[in-house]
Amino acid sequence: MADSGYAYWGSNLGRATKTNAERESQSAFMLSGNAAETGAGEDREPTAGARSLEMKASFDVLVIGGGPAGSTAATHLAAEGLAVGVLEEHATIGEPVDCTGVIGAEACDRFAIPQELIVGSVGAVTIHSPGGVTATHRSSQPMAHVVDRGKFDRWIARQAQDAGASMLLSARVTDIEYDDRHLRVVCQRPEGERQTYRAAVVILASGPRFALQERLGLGVCPLLWKSAHAELPGDGLPHPQVYLGREVAPGAFGWAVPIRRDGRPWVRVGVNSHAADVQRYLQKLCAERFPHLLPGDGVVQSRSWVIPVVPPPTTYGERVLAVGDAAGQVKSTSGGGIYFGILSAQLAAETVAEAFRRGDFRRTALAVYEKRWRARLGLDLKIGTLFRRLFTRMTDRDMDDLLRALREEEVSSQVSEKVSFDWHRELVLFVLKHPKLARILLRPLWDRPSAA
Ligand SMILES: Cc1cc2nc3c(=O)[nH]c(=O)nc-3n(C[C@H](O)[C@H](O)[C@H](O)COP(=O)(O)OP(=O)(O)OC[C@H]3O[C@@H](n4cnc5c(N)ncnc54)[C@H](O)[C@@H]3O)c2cc1C
Repeated sequence: MADSGYAYWGSNLGRATKTNAERESQSAFMLSGNAAETGAGEDREPTAGARSLEMKASFDVLVIGGGPAGSTAATHLAAEGLAVGVLEEHATIGEPVDCTGVIGAEACDRFAIPQELIVGSVGAVTIHSPGGVTATHRSSQPMAHVVDRGKFDRWIARQAQDAGASMLLSARVTDIEYDDRHLRVVCQRPEGERQTYRAAVVILASGPRFALQERLGLGVCPLLWKSAHAELPGDGLPHPQVYLGREVAPGAFGWAVPIRRDGRPWVRVGVNSHAADVQRYLQKLCAERFPHLLPGDGVVQSRSWVIPVVPPPTTYGERVLAVGDAAGQVKSTSGGGIYFGILSAQLAAETVAEAFRRGDFRRTALAVYEKRWRARLGLDLKIGTLFRRLFTRMTDRDMDDLLRALREEEVSSQVSEKVSFDWHRELVLFVLKHPKLARILLRPLWDRPSAA
């Protein structure tokens, strides 16, 4: 097997060879500095914050980023017996939150997401056109659930820890370089000192930032949506709403999702857009739709972040794979990335486990990862991208017409059969094949070909 001298496949060297001196001198790997913040799983592990794991200089696999994708990959690889470390830049897993937390029912079932993480359910969605036309899709069973995203991330991270992965918090990776038969990973600690680790394989799960991918030759994501979001205290929405229009969310959409947390109602509001001043659009949306929920000064306290809606040129290299947002594995229609990121992280773990069995970490050996995730998600992403491109060219009048057509009973019932919260391919293909809907969606191409 390649890479002699380091933790091998199945050897679990990280836990098996720890010396007392190492135990004493090493700083703590822990899930959170504050046990009270660890969220779901406290019942099983009440002293989680105080539980430290050993730190070592070399790992089989280092995962950069302790979000859902990184922790999923770490769980599966640690369960295979590999020595796995997760480096997370924040002091607490899952904080700060830049997500509404809507996860399709299919994913919730598949991953057995515990009820205590769920703060809302989606049984219907109303779409609002710029001119005030609305169309509502209702489902007999919940299409999706809304999770407490901080707790959700900590729940997955706990699984990684339970499987044997080590987690180092407040560790921001600033550089990665090839070093003989390893990768050297440099990270910055809050006190200012730098620490270097070595790993046979690195998984980039660092969200929608692409400096490390660029450094390793994977390239950057060619299209990022800007996203602003806020949580307003209060009630009044029967179910989630989606808002369209060039004055509402240029290039994408706004949304509002009702939830209940700690027995109180909240509305999670957000705007995705290609516009740079997305926070201004969020402020406007809140002022127009939820004036009664605004604070006294009328100014919404919001956060902004980005969503990679197109994957980077490649998601693998020698000894390296990218997963989740770091690989642009996001629904190109809605920007939802939790489910696709977790599915891809499982495929990444499978590929890395095979690479350890064969002792082959070359680019050519890891290329199968991209084949696998594209086989699973690629067609949906491509067809979603086609829809997004057409949608971006629609005028407000086109959107009004589309919603009017969707309200027609026959169309509405046909569309209902095609709606899937996570997989949008069938619905887009239906729209493209439907004479009336396709005419509206494709109208910008005939009417305004120069915009294409
Ligand atoms: C406003 C908003 C709302 C959204 N709503 C939804 C939704 O409702 N449903 C849905 O499915 N998706 C949603 N998304 C998208 C979803 O949040 C992402 O797709 C998902 O978080 C991707 O998971 P990940 O593990 O790939 O990355 P992340 O969750 O971004 O995790 C990456 C982790 O890496 C860490 N990190 C980054 N750089 C470094 C570094 N250099 N060193 C160490 N650590 C590092 C970060 O701190 C972070 O913890 C939303 C996104 C936004 C912005």
